[in-house]
Amino acid sequence: MGKVVLIGCGNVGMSYAYSLVTSKNKVSELVLIDVNHAKAQGEALDLQHAAVYNTTRVKIKAGDYTDCCDANIVCICAGAIMQPGETRPQLLNRNYKIMQNIVGQVVESGFKGIYLVATNPLDVMTYAVLRLSGVKPRKVIGSGTTLDTARLRHLIGEEINIHPKNIHSYVVGEHGDTAMVPWSCSFIGLNKIDQFLNEEQRKKIVYQVRNSAYEIIEKKGSTYYGIGICLKDITETILEDSGGIKTVSVYSPEHDTCFGMPAILCKRGVVRTLKLELNTIEQKKLDESISAIKEMCSQINWE
Ligand code: NAD
Repeated sequence: MGKVVLIGCGNVGMSYAYSLVTSKNKVSELVLIDVNHAKAQGEALDLQHAAVYNTTRVKIKAGDYTDCCDANIVCICAGAIMQPGETRPQLLNRNYKIMQNIVGQVVESGFKGIYLVATNPLDVMTYAVLRLSGVKPRKVIGSGTTLDTARLRHLIGEEINIHPKNIHSYVVGEHGDTAMVPWSCSFIGLNKIDQFLNEEQRKKIVYQVRNSAYEIIEKKGSTYYGIGICLKDITETILEDSGGIKTVSVYSPEHDTCFGMPAILCKRGVVRTLKLELNTIEQKKLDESISAIKEMCSQINWE
């Protein structure tokens, strides 16, 4: 059981919060923070009623940054969306300012736990939280390509009619347009995936993985259920100290940036990342994805 502080009570934050307080009782306390305090209060009241039918008690309240001092996990889902006429670097810098504001206050609280980041552009914001907090890299985890991996497994499962839990295939790299699938490391049960999917099917699936966020946003405005469950899954893996493998965004000293890769998680954060045995083409794609993240990082005014 643990204490989680959620910062940013929008669609993503509240999907996460709802799935946390209605699931396996890993969380005993949930605190909601938002610049709009009334929204956090309303969400807390609503959520308290949803948690009544959980088998153990979950304390839920709207709070402030002092609540972070004894939390196990602070999850950041606060973010700005693009304004009309705004450029991508301008949005990047606006979200960076939000991270500065949030992380400064979390650090001031004396927080000793794990930072979990969902704000986009995900890998850049994860790297920003690492720099701003000054904590060890193992304690800063971005949701990375967990959502992309969920989309991949769903699509493969639909294509070949197999349960996604038996599909051992990952998306790695940027959570964004350059994310890539290392097919040479992908298995269905114990069998290599090329026994099940030909090249044309694999291309179609990669396209659909990349396109799903755009399609959902076009049809309903934003995506949140999938990422809510991914964040819950990462949270429970950390609190259970289970050593689960997730494609989270973590710091790579070799590249001096964060990107999605399979990592073993426990209550101390990232235990280690798993090195992928990629072929030449896949390695090139991953390098390009990391370069895209670094390019975005270079557009931030870091001072
Ligand atoms: P939203 O607009 O519904 O919610 C954002 C919330 O953040 C609002 O309640 C707002 O008041 C709050 N906020 C803004 N600045 C704040 C601050 N300084 N301190 C505290 N709270 C603050 O947005 P959303 O749909 O919930 O998306 C949130 C973020 O998650 C976005 O950056 C979005 O792009 C990202 N996202 C990530 C993934 C992923 O896979 N990692 C998936 C979907 C969305």
